[in-house]
Amino acid sequence: MAQTAKRTHNITLIPGDGIGPEVSGAVVEILEAAGAATGVSFEWHRYDAGADAFEKTREYIPKALIESIEQNKVGLKGPVGTPIGGGFASINVQLRKKFELFANFRPVKNLPGLKTNYPNVDLVIVRENTEDLYAGLEVIVVPGVVQSLKIITEKASTRIAKFAFEYARKHGRQKIHAIHKANIMKLSDGLFLDCCRKVGANFPDITYAEHIVDNTCMQLVMNPYQYDILLTENLYGDILSDLCSAFVGGLGLVPGANLGTECAIFEAVHGSAPDIAGKNIANPTALLQSAVLMLHHINETETAERVQAGLEQVYREGKTLTRDVGGNAGTREFAQAVLQAIEAPVAVTS
Ligand code: ATP
Repeated sequence: MAQTAKRTHNITLIPGDGIGPEVSGAVVEILEAAGAATGVSFEWHRYDAGADAFEKTREYIPKALIESIEQNKVGLKGPVGTPIGGGFASINVQLRKKFELFANFRPVKNLPGLKTNYPNVDLVIVRENTEDLYAGLEVIVVPGVVQSLKIITEKASTRIAKFAFEYARKHGRQKIHAIHKANIMKLSDGLFLDCCRKVGANFPDITYAEHIVDNTCMQLVMNPYQYDILLTENLYGDILSDLCSAFVGGLGLVPGANLGTECAIFEAVHGSAPDIAGKNIANPTALLQSAVLMLHHINETETAERVQAGLEQVYREGKTLTRDVGGNAGTREFAQAVLQAIEAPVAVTS
């Protein structure tokens, strides 16, 4: 039975575009239901960003959105599409830089009951989120010659390495692989590795290793179980995230958190998937699992566990799954199944 709300959380919500409104609509509904059952309520502060926001406000990232995140400190964000080639700079990247959300945390873990080619994967990608080739510093040197600057700093590399090692120690993770291409980019990736080694020296309890990024792709496909935490620069982390999502069923599943010292924005690994937008096809699991990370972040553990248990029940039953994971349910039907599972949980028997 629903309880009277005891705690209210103010959350900045960016529904996003493409499949964003569908998946974020489902997630909000599920969080409301889980919150009602656990004595938690949410005040959603909704803002558009990107092309939709520009149409209404002539700003790609409205000032009111920035102020809302500054005030609430926590955001839940659907995907916001970035035009290929020309157009405006990535909203995702801009928000990460604006709020110094330096750590992109992406756990890759199989859901119970969902068969993939790689059972029992459990690894974490820790991706530097503010620099590298994503600094967006590109110039036309002369027509036909373009320069894109790869920025790697000691400060950001040390900060992300510390985050990864501290996370490993706190959560009982054994091994960190720093992923690089320092054989070619001797200065930039070399600096990144130097910082990782220096930080790692203070964590003798965590095994530290280094793998070259192209070899890592092959090693991951051959045997993902050799990895525990992948510590990466921005670009390699982006690419490896999509690759690793395939272990657990694809982009519809993998959550993410952008963490800074002041604020945090939770968003799925996937983009706006315009090819399936507005068709009631998208899988809201990735954003829902991002919301679970958010609930843990705001110390609403019971609500987080309730949502995760409901989600896992639906996967375990396997009757109402979206197409990307072999089912034929729509986004809404899947969300309804999770809502039902939250309201009528079934005890798990091993
Ligand atoms: P970006 O570079 O913006 O992160 P991306 O290259 O990772 O985007 P997406 O937009 O995430 O690309 O989508 C890639 C493909 O994955 C889509 O065409 C879509 O078929 C599939 N996909 C992504 N997200 C989902 C989802 N939530 N549910 C089902 N399929 C999805």
